[in-house]
Amino acid sequence: MPFPNTPQPTEPSEPSAAAETAADTANETPRLGPAPEDNAPRYLKDNDTAVALAWRVVLARYRAIRDKASRNFMRRTLRIGVSARIFHPEPGSVGLRSKNLQYLEESIAQWVMSRDVLVFMIPTVNTSGLLHPSNITLRHYARHLDGLVLQGGADVSPQSYSQLPTRPEWSGDRARDLYELELLHEFVDAGKPVLGICRGCQLINVAFGGTLYQDIAAEAPTASEHVNTEYDQLHHSISFAKGSTLQALFPKKSGALVNSIHHQAVKDLGRDITVEARSKDDNIIEAIRYQKANFVMGLQWHPEFHSASSTELLDCTPILDTFLRAARETRF
Ligand code: MN
Repeated sequence: MPFPNTPQPTEPSEPSAAAETAADTANETPRLGPAPEDNAPRYLKDNDTAVALAWRVVLARYRAIRDKASRNFMRRTLRIGVSARIFHPEPGSVGLRSKNLQYLEESIAQWVMSRDVLVFMIPTVNTSGLLHPSNITLRHYARHLDGLVLQGGADVSPQSYSQLPTRPEWSGDRARDLYELELLHEFVDAGKPVLGICRGCQLINVAFGGTLYQDIAAEAPTASEHVNTEYDQLHHSISFAKGSTLQALFPKKSGALVNSIHHQAVKDLGRDITVEARSKDDNIIEAIRYQKANFVMGLQWHPEFHSASSTELLDCTPILDTFLRAARETRF
């Protein structure tokens, strides 16, 4: 039974007189006025007006634009900056090794990119040099990128926490400290999240006035081994601090197994820095967080060396996701 308002289809075998007349007219001259009612498309409402239809068209157009804008906003690809590792020229060397090199280790970029974000290595800037000075500063990078990862690498210089190196080989990389301290300052100032890896964790502590063990084995002789020739194959257990962000991120665990590739470590905490995790056997600090920012966290281990499929080592994807979520929230 058809709906009462639905116009009945014209029987093809018995065309009505009116339909024949209309078809003939259409063939001869284009019709200018409104179509006769029985010729209106059947999907239109009865008694519809041009104004009502125009209004619905405008609303539909508005909905399409709004939906597209919100899709773009939600899917906007994040841009994450990674601080550079710095290779200083070796005395007497030739070719590329006689130059300042800035580089990143492949797996840190790939770990961050595993969550479909863009990664940019941030080079040091030269605003006052004689050769190629630029008006671009690290503040510009902090403004245009959504978050910062401080890469691992060379020792932090004891000079950066007002100490003298107790051995010449522990003098660290003061140039990189200055570059990364400025970078950290600019991102924190811009309200953008920071994740410090290994050296980056130590640098965050130093930036807020904390100190480091220049060498764990020399200054904390009872501590267990935190670095050896096994490199990223050396593992140890950590315990999450009570009430810490890490504990909240891994509610089913009280601790985990992580790699350990460091001979320095956080000693006295900087201001507003809290402990997130400690090495289980010797209480060496393994993760920290700066409390006065939305997300500024340091991990003493290298999450990028943990395979996601490894069941033994801590899968740090929840930490990366929390960092990226904080980055998303600062971007409009
Ligand atoms: Mn360790």
